[in-house]
Amino acid sequence: MQVSENKVVSIHYTLKNDAGEIIDSSTGRDPLTYLHGAGNIIPGLEKALAGKDSGEHVDVSVAPEEAYGSRNESLIQAVPKEAFEGVDKIEPGMQFQAQTPSGMQVLTVVEVKDDEVVVDGNHPLAGQTLHFSVDIAEVREATEEELSHGHAH
Ligand code: ZN
Repeated sequence: MQVSENKVVSIHYTLKNDAGEIIDSSTGRDPLTYLHGAGNIIPGLEKALAGKDSGEHVDVSVAPEEAYGSRNESLIQAVPKEAFEGVDKIEPGMQFQAQTPSGMQVLTVVEVKDDEVVVDGNHPLAGQTLHFSVDIAEVREATEEELSHGHAH
C-alpha cells in the first residue's frame, strides 16, 4: 500500500546530522508510527515519504526550513540563577522543560555565570539539516478514530 493522506505509516529510521553522527534511531525499538498528512512528523520527511510503498527504502536530507526551523538568536537569554532553585548543579548542556505562552519549550543551558544562567530556547535540532535513512515497515488505512484524533493509535 502506498503512503498517502489518511494512511497510518510505520517506519524504521536513522537520523544523522551534517557531521554524519547518529542523532536518533528506531533501531532496537518499535517503529515510529504516524498518521500521514496530519503534521505528526516534520514536513520535509512527510513529503519525502508520500507516494512510497511499504518495504521501500528512502534516503532524504531535510533542510531546517522543512524540519525544526532556523535558529533564532533572540531565544538565547540570561535568567537569574534563582530560577534553578532545587537543581544541585547546573552545567552547560543540561536541558530543562519550561512552560511558555506557546507551549512546552526545551531550554538548553549554554553558560553558567556567577548569578545568571544563559539558556537557549531553540529546538536542539533548529538550524540543522537532517539526514534520514528510512525503511517503510507498514502502511495501512487509518481507522475513523485515528482520523478524528489526528494521530495513529
Ligand atoms: Zn487518539
